[in-house]
Amino acid sequence: MSKSSTMQITKPHVAMLASPGLGHLIPVLELAKRLVTHHNLQVTVLVVASDASDEQLSQLLHSINQDFLNIVLLPSVDISAIVDPDASISIKIVVMMHESLPLLRSAISAMAIRPTALIVDLFGTEAMAIADEFEMLKFVFIASNAWFFAVAIYTPEFDNKALAEHVYQHQPLKIPGCTPIKFKDTLEIFPLFETPIYDGYLNASRLMSSANGILVNTWEDLEPKTLRAYRDSNLLGRNSKAPVYPIGPLARSVQPSTSGKEILDWLNKQPRESVLYVSFGSGGTLSAKQIVELALGLELSQQRFIWVVRPPVENDVSGSYFSVGIDSSDGQDFLPDGFLARTQKIGLLVPMWAPQAEILAHQSVGGFLTHCGWNSALESIINGVPMIAWPLYAEQKMNATMLTEELGVAVRSKEMPSERVVERDEIEMMVRKIMVDKEGYAIRNKVKELQLSAEKASNKGGSSFNSLSRLADDCWSFVQTLEVKAKGG
Ligand code: UDP
Repeated sequence: MSKSSTMQITKPHVAMLASPGLGHLIPVLELAKRLVTHHNLQVTVLVVASDASDEQLSQLLHSINQDFLNIVLLPSVDISAIVDPDASISIKIVVMMHESLPLLRSAISAMAIRPTALIVDLFGTEAMAIADEFEMLKFVFIASNAWFFAVAIYTPEFDNKALAEHVYQHQPLKIPGCTPIKFKDTLEIFPLFETPIYDGYLNASRLMSSANGILVNTWEDLEPKTLRAYRDSNLLGRNSKAPVYPIGPLARSVQPSTSGKEILDWLNKQPRESVLYVSFGSGGTLSAKQIVELALGLELSQQRFIWVVRPPVENDVSGSYFSVGIDSSDGQDFLPDGFLARTQKIGLLVPMWAPQAEILAHQSVGGFLTHCGWNSALESIINGVPMIAWPLYAEQKMNATMLTEELGVAVRSKEMPSERVVERDEIEMMVRKIMVDKEGYAIRNKVKELQLSAEKASNKGGSSFNSLSRLADDCWSFVQTLEVKAKGG
């Protein structure tokens, strides 16, 4: 439907549900902004938060102009009586989302303008039943890539034999038309395949197939093979009839930032593409031994760096996921003796949290040591910054494999950092490779090519822009149908 034929219709109102964690909220907000600014929709973002007083969360929400985007923070739910404190982050999020459903229902029914559509993420698929109750369209937003989406949608087809061979004999998991998942990259959910937790994941996967559409934070030229496999009804596509909309890269936009001014001032004084940015996302943490090796590896490389440092956490790679605003460490005494003094001319340490989008967009940044959260990977690609892949949890190992083996924009350690401490010499070698060495030329070049391809997809008339237009058109058509029905047509 063309926009001109929709002029008389009430503007569609889209509700978006964001699951806990800044890594989940950030792409939802970016999608919301695009739906409003490029596609003329009205959007309300409903936020499920583990801790509404979290400093980074409130800063992020305050940075949004609520005149054009409505934000509703759902009351926090207390899951302490239901979930073991040692349960994984994913399980905690699943439970929080489940417990928040009645709050979501009340929030939607209290809205003055009833939404036309509900967009949920993979943790929010249960909420699609609420969309049905209120006769809304329902979409799933996968804030990750198409390869991860392929695994999620194909999960009901994995039988126990295939899962057992994968988990116990380390055979790859095969997905029709897509790159198989090697055991070293597996998702945390697969070893749990004989538990009720896995059944919950299966349920989410099945629910996803009943959506009116699935939005994926990727673009046609980034993952043509996987997107083709989904559209091919003889391959992956036989699993779901829901159309897929590749709408990426949706990445956090650079803000005129007041916080972090001293970091940007420091960057302004450094030569072009000379600084390595080191960060493990909103929740990643390292062990004490790994922090020491990383510090010494950075020092040995003699490259400039900005490192977002968090106190060590043993045996929990996602240790700060719900509390990035608090620095409980007393100074930085977990760093090697003399490290700060020896590196003060080339390095900047930032406790807990940094303005990442602004840093990666700065011309002095020439490399990113990243935990491979998909937002971070995209933020690096759209700025043409090559990466050192350092996956820790969730789907980060798959992302790392894609960035290194398929896209050729990153290097990685020989062994998984989540399995074994990566030593200083290897770190030095990886840093020098992406920043300065001749061997890193192809990687640096490839990421610049991808940067252009990302821009092309997002610009007006590009594949992702057009995909999102189609979704907006679905909403306009739906409103029109409802209005015709209401008038007795
Ligand atoms: N981020 C940031 N400053 C930090 C750490 C993270 O601004 O110090 C932002 C980063 O730019 C990205 C998001 O938080 O947009 C992290 O998302 P990602 O998917 O990379 O990882 P997750 O946090 O979900 O593991």
